[in-house]
Amino acid sequence: MAHREVGSDHHELFPVQELDGAPRVECPMQGHSVLFSECQSCEHGTVVRVKGAALPFVLCPSDGPAHGLMPGAPDAEVITLMKPVVTVRREQPVEALIRTFMDEGVTVAVVVDDLHRAVGLVTRNHIVLDHHGWTELRDAALSMWPADSQWHGAVESESELFLHDFLRSRTAGDLMSRGVAYLRPDARISAAAKAMARTQLKHLPVLDEENRPIGMVSSLDIAQWVASREA
Ligand code: SF4
Repeated sequence: MAHREVGSDHHELFPVQELDGAPRVECPMQGHSVLFSECQSCEHGTVVRVKGAALPFVLCPSDGPAHGLMPGAPDAEVITLMKPVVTVRREQPVEALIRTFMDEGVTVAVVVDDLHRAVGLVTRNHIVLDHHGWTELRDAALSMWPADSQWHGAVESESELFLHDFLRSRTAGDLMSRGVAYLRPDARISAAAKAMARTQLKHLPVLDEENRPIGMVSSLDIAQWVASREA
């Protein structure tokens, strides 16, 4: 699945919503809601599916440049508030992925290929299993014997065997979301906020022209930026 630029001045994500028993989209070009089936054959839009969201979104031309977050206040580019991004290789085992999250103090990382281009996004939520939450998986990963230890494969129970097998054999590439929603560094902060509100994503990576990650923008960064302007 191709990545999707969001937060540009000319394209925005519009949610598909159940209205009167049918999936509909508020069409920016027609100025009223249309059936989702119309979008699927429309040359102007691209259907975007976000992991965890029940209904998809449609990336469509917006009706004009994004407006500021507060009326009359100047906007800025996301490059002014983006934070360093953490990247992992897609073949990185889940055990090492958890260690990266703990060492870097993050909950999200961009998965990259050999040329350091973004191929996916992985978060703590991608790691958790139905019956094994984050805390249990983190503790299991941190307590595993190193690969060069004679105790490396030692386990005490069936449950531990299952967890260790998951942590060692599954990789970031197995768990990641493909088709990354991303920002360009010159996207407006207000447009990024709109994209996050629509997709309910808390983090958006910033990619350069070669699709290499250069930063990360979070909803918290935007909230703090707004608060600093009000101070
Ligand atoms: S895909 Fe086409 S019809 Fe659907 S909302 Fe976008 S512009 Fe409108």
